[in-house]
Amino acid sequence: MIHFYLTKNNLLNLIRTHKVIFFSLIIIILLTSGLIIAKLNSDKGNKGALTATPIEKPSPNSSPSQAVASTTKTISPEKLISKDRITKKPFGIYVTPQNSPVSPEKFKGYHTAADFEIFDEEKDQEIKVEAVCGGEIVQASIVSGYGGLIIQNCEFKGLQSKVLYGHLDINSQLTKRSGDLVQAGDEIGILADEYSAMSGSERKHLHLGILKTNQIDYRGYVISESELAKWYDPVELLQII
Ligand SMILES: [Zn+2]
Repeated sequence: MIHFYLTKNNLLNLIRTHKVIFFSLIIIILLTSGLIIAKLNSDKGNKGALTATPIEKPSPNSSPSQAVASTTKTISPEKLISKDRITKKPFGIYVTPQNSPVSPEKFKGYHTAADFEIFDEEKDQEIKVEAVCGGEIVQASIVSGYGGLIIQNCEFKGLQSKVLYGHLDINSQLTKRSGDLVQAGDEIGILADEYSAMSGSERKHLHLGILKTNQIDYRGYVISESELAKWYDPVELLQII
């Protein structure tokens, strides 16, 4: 067995005797490390190019609500609550299963609200619903006939009123909850999908009823005109155009 002790002197002797081999080794090591560094750098560049959407840290200015708005397909509520969408059931229309503009019709009586319809191309879109007034949300729940129903406290003509927004998908993250205070124009939820549990098995539309009193009355239809007088005509009250 050969024992080789590396000392300063025999290292120098080794370099002298194997000068060519020694410097060749140094050059090989330098070249190899240069190649490795170049490869690592090119890998880094490729990674960025292959990633379709580079992960970016959210800027301090972007709020979660802005992030939701940019990824959700919604249309402006100004368009939803407009007169030209009241094509089936305006406020006060008397419907029966025989004469109703909606088929099949399961209700009978004077309509206590105005119904705002969607366009065909909006069936698969999330249609946002905005508050028509400022006030506290006092209920967001499932109610027979409506599916998802949101009720809001509002003041009209100096008196406390209740506003009912029917057929909303109250499971949506965008839905306001009881106790939330909203301003007129704030988004309070989205319309439920047609013929779903959230729409009360109705077509996709907004039923907007405004009670003249502070007492909740869930009825969407009443049997007499004198009873109908408990509700405002939303078009007249809100001057919907
Ligand atoms: Zn209705």
